[in-house]
Amino acid sequence: MTIASDRLQAIREQVQHHLDKGTPEPLSAERQQELVARIKEELVRHNAVIVAHYYTAPEIQALAEETGGCVSDSLQMARFGHDHPAETLIVAGVRFMGETAKILTPDKHVLMPTLEATCSLDIGCPADEFSDFCDQYPDRQVVVYANTSAAVKARADWVVTSSIALEVAEYLADRGDKILWAPDRHLGDYVRRETGADIVMWDGACIVHEEFKARSLLDLKNVYPDAAVLVHPESPASVIELADRVGSTTQIIDAARELDNPQFIVATDQGIFYQLQKQVPDKQFIIAPTAGHGATCHSCGNCPWMAMNELETLAAVFERDDNEIFVDRELGERAMVPLRRMLEFSPNRQAD
Ligand code: SF4
Repeated sequence: MTIASDRLQAIREQVQHHLDKGTPEPLSAERQQELVARIKEELVRHNAVIVAHYYTAPEIQALAEETGGCVSDSLQMARFGHDHPAETLIVAGVRFMGETAKILTPDKHVLMPTLEATCSLDIGCPADEFSDFCDQYPDRQVVVYANTSAAVKARADWVVTSSIALEVAEYLADRGDKILWAPDRHLGDYVRRETGADIVMWDGACIVHEEFKARSLLDLKNVYPDAAVLVHPESPASVIELADRVGSTTQIIDAARELDNPQFIVATDQGIFYQLQKQVPDKQFIIAPTAGHGATCHSCGNCPWMAMNELETLAAVFERDDNEIFVDRELGERAMVPLRRMLEFSPNRQAD
């Protein structure tokens, strides 16, 4: 199964559309303070809390932390939004994270700084084509990554994040189940190699992680011989092979804390550096190399959609009428089944 060329083109155009806007002018310290103060007031007034991903900008992460929100990976974001008593969740991340929050808490308002913030994995796996693909393999458990639309989740038996992908695959393989995996082929390939599970795969990829390059990484390792390499499993196999630790964003932060190395070369979105430097201040972090501007790199270690979460758009989140997440109730109820399985699975492996 390959991504149709018109879809690849659509992904390229969306990325280009965002890149063409250029980097916004940095805010003055005064303007930043003004926006932060306004956002804090609005959060209290609307009984709202910020649920932010590790890949968002440092000022967004700091604000979420200061105001009692959370900064985490997509699994923990889903848990936090589900358990928190706030009436409104402000999801600073990409659209599927907002949708997941809405499915899990249909009675809460879920707002996002912009609904344009999407994900190449989500775009690359349209529900109708995916459903046809599933129909070809009726004997397989359908396991989809969290980075998918509500409609794709509704077609799945299981939803996983990178933090529990291996455990769920092992659990299913032990049960004798065969797996249909979507949409990230690099993560699926990694899971297949690690668990030996019988997997057929949808062909999608993350435009950020796919750009990390093994040859340049080897060169960088020679420059920093004491550095450990930490790699997110959405990266290509050749990059994963060079890793000292492979894992989700949370697992990467844990590895930086646990390993004795003074330096780390990190193959995931640069947004994570804020938390790495905050949580492990005495170590040095270096971004893994991509092809670089002017070559084939679409992102250079920086997700263009995560970057759409800015203080200005966050400050205007209650003023607009085009940024609330809605999910069809019936669709949401179907998507809730594999999402619940995900939430209940990870702590004790006793789901299903
Ligand atoms: S970093 Fe990759 S997987 Fe994450 S939101 Fe961006 S495009 Fe999607």
